[in-house]
Amino acid sequence: MKWNHKREQYKGYNIYSMKKYVDKKRIIFTSVVIIIVIITLGLIAYYSIDSIIRLKAKQKFDEQLISEKEAIIDKLNQIEIEKKNKLENTKNNLSNIYHSDTKRAFLTFDDGPSQNTETILQILEQYQVKASFFVLGTQVEKKPELVKKIYEQGNFIGNHGYSHNYSAIYSSPQAVLDEYNHTNSLIQQALGDSNFNSHLFRFPGGLAGGKYADIKNQARDLLEQNEIFQVNWNALTGDSEKAKPTPEELMTNLQKTTEGKNSVVILMHDSAAKKVTADILPQVIEYLKSQGYEMKTFYDIMEI
Ligand SMILES: [Zn+2]
Repeated sequence: MKWNHKREQYKGYNIYSMKKYVDKKRIIFTSVVIIIVIITLGLIAYYSIDSIIRLKAKQKFDEQLISEKEAIIDKLNQIEIEKKNKLENTKNNLSNIYHSDTKRAFLTFDDGPSQNTETILQILEQYQVKASFFVLGTQVEKKPELVKKIYEQGNFIGNHGYSHNYSAIYSSPQAVLDEYNHTNSLIQQALGDSNFNSHLFRFPGGLAGGKYADIKNQARDLLEQNEIFQVNWNALTGDSEKAKPTPEELMTNLQKTTEGKNSVVILMHDSAAKKVTADILPQVIEYLKSQGYEMKTFYDIMEI
């Protein structure tokens, strides 16, 4: 009886104690599992959210990159279109140089600068008139300060090649382009502007005809491929047609060659031997004004 009681007691105690033990173990196990599950879920959630944030940030970055790229392409296209338009306008303006609804006159001086340049500039300033000077490389080398003065006074500087020696400049189309580039770099040095380029050439002796007609025509195409255009003249004083022309002869030539024309490009020379051109310039300007011409330069024509 005593044993039984003890046994029951022992047995009772044992069951209770084991039950307690198992419950505790289950609670701990469950808690650990729950904690692990929570941590795992937390980590999954964290990494998922993190991935979504990163993905969205990347998408946004990619979108920004694409739109910036598109904006740059648009801008480049726009610049290209504007450049093409300017080239086309310049070509049109030059091919219509002798046509105008209103009367306009382009005073042009070839072969300078020279010892007469200062006088020409003073007269232009006095009459508040601008002109276009097609300067010669060999002269630019000798008188770079005058090139700068011509330019700073608001006159247009065009390019007349380097040598003015027909057998040299017209030895090939490439020689024409080389003389243009050589003279352009001399003008750049004279002006202290490494970006200067007038894009306008006047063929020594003119573009038309003569012994070198074929070379000149090929050179004109080569120049155009390099965005360099050319301009001739449709009026003149004839200052280079004889050694010592009189002022009267020059004025008569001017009247004859401008007569009935709305748009005149007048050829004159800025060279040491042509002092008479500087002397009659006031008369030339007064005559043109009296005929209703408005003075223009190639700044009004060249858009590039
Ligand atoms: Zn010339």
